[in-house]
Amino acid sequence: MIVDNLQRVRSRIVQACSACGRSEQEVVLLAVSKTFGAAAVREAYAAGQTAFGENYIQEAVEKIAALADLPLQWHCIGPIQSNKTRLVAQHFDWAHTVDRFKTAQRLNDQRPPERAALNVCIQVNIDGGPTKAGVAPTEVLALAQQIAGLPRLRLRGLMTIPEPAADFAAACAVHQRTRQLFDALQSSGLALDTLSMGMSADLEAAVQCGSSMVRIGSAIFGGRQYPA
Ligand SMILES: *Cc1c(COP(=O)(O)O)cnc(C)c1O
Repeated sequence: MIVDNLQRVRSRIVQACSACGRSEQEVVLLAVSKTFGAAAVREAYAAGQTAFGENYIQEAVEKIAALADLPLQWHCIGPIQSNKTRLVAQHFDWAHTVDRFKTAQRLNDQRPPERAALNVCIQVNIDGGPTKAGVAPTEVLALAQQIAGLPRLRLRGLMTIPEPAADFAAACAVHQRTRQLFDALQSSGLALDTLSMGMSADLEAAVQCGSSMVRIGSAIFGGRQYPA
């Protein structure tokens, strides 16, 4: 049951926060509904969940339309090809996966004037996977400063998808590097408030390292039917 799963995930967040002296108010739960239909999202909404993450733009746009009667917040957490920026700018509240200025510029230019600024996170390739999306840590500051100048975007922070870690300590070691990068950006004068890191398997380690938004899919909706 989605309602029970949500309750369990919320308890994990509460416990993870109390284990490191943080307030649970500091951690937003993003329910990752990719591959699940509108009915599952309605069920989660009925259990109090309002923020949802989606990877596949076309799938998301259909779901967003089918759920337009609900006051939901939609986060794009999948790759954003140039030919998809318009859909993201039109339909989403957040984009977590910006890793090039060109993408940011297109989102900025295509954001409809009647909508609030699009919230944006820069995706960082924190563990150096050669084929992975995300900007290199050394290039984050320059990109952040460029994005901060775009009026229709609101730069909120950083997002990472590290490789699965062997254990808690290994997960923490990687998340800690993202945290340090985030702190460095803040010290440089950028007003950021979002560290989007932590999934079903590493929620606790991410919270301990300062995550402010965990993206949880399978622990809420169950196993996915096609690979993500
Ligand atoms: C699928 C996905 C998640 C959720 O993963 P789970 O392991 O199911 O919690 C989080 N973030 C991103 C970017 C994803 O693609």
